Amino acid sequence: MSAAGFGYMPYPPAGAGPGAGTQIPPQALSFNPFAPAFTPATSGQQRPHSQSRSRSRSPMRGKGKGQFPEKRDERAQPSRASGGIPNPTPEYLVHASLPPLLLPHPRQILVVIDLNGTLLFRPSRKNPSQFVERPHARRFLSYCIDTFHVAIWSSAKPDNVRRMCDQLMTPEQRQRVVAIWGRDKFGLDAADYNRRVQCYKRLGALWGAHEVARTHPRFDEGVRWSQADTVLIDDSLEKARSEPYNLVPIPEFMGDPNEPGYILPQVHDYINECSRQADISTYIRMSPFQSKANFMLGAPAVANAAAPAA
Ligand SMILES: [Mg+2]
Repeated sequence: MSAAGFGYMPYPPAGAGPGAGTQIPPQALSFNPFAPAFTPATSGQQRPHSQSRSRSRSPMRGKGKGQFPEKRDERAQPSRASGGIPNPTPEYLVHASLPPLLLPHPRQILVVIDLNGTLLFRPSRKNPSQFVERPHARRFLSYCIDTFHVAIWSSAKPDNVRRMCDQLMTPEQRQRVVAIWGRDKFGLDAADYNRRVQCYKRLGALWGAHEVARTHPRFDEGVRWSQADTVLIDDSLEKARSEPYNLVPIPEFMGDPNEPGYILPQVHDYINECSRQADISTYIRMSPFQSKANFMLGAPAVANAAAPAA
């Protein structure tokens, strides 16, 4: 049977055995290409583009005076009081250096998703709640919420994060997201909080938060989310500095509604593969995510197709 939508790779059915309670029902592992939020592909999206083009051009560019995205100052480094610049721990690196191991079934993972530059583009700081959604953003987010455990983590201020999430998710979806974290969750001191400073998404902070930890399927057995079962989807390499082998780095979205390469559908395929890994950090180290400019969506599966005549 062919896979449904978005170039999705089929999985073997989940079977009994150790960890069965954490497995994902196979029917949950595909997009429905006819879901209401689906944006049909345009001819512009299907054209192959150069691999070297890593940033999507903004539709705001070149359309007249006053419509360019605001040019902003370079980011400063955070102070020591804000935690400084992190590096991976030796334990993290040793753990990630082990060989990857494919599981016989997909399992639950924690998917941490950035907002600006990843799911959306905000053209102006003066209107922080106005943004352009990346192609397939809602479907991708819905898929992740329906299939995995999702945390939203943005360096925007909490009010703006809430406004963006209000637009991207239904109230019911927001309830199911394990955490929605904004700028107040980076441990920044007061001065850094209010200036353009480089933020670091230390996944250890997320893993240690009870609201997140308690969502692990084996929490009662003492198991916690870790580098083995977490992905961070972000357009910034630097933000993932402390856990680089948990990052799914994607090109920064700058508002192009005809973005080449179907970035989020490709991320969908990649995180599905991550869910089959015994340790995600070992897999990402060996096979990091790389978007393909000529990626094409897979043909939708036909439900209950009639059996061929005998
Ligand atoms: Mg970003």
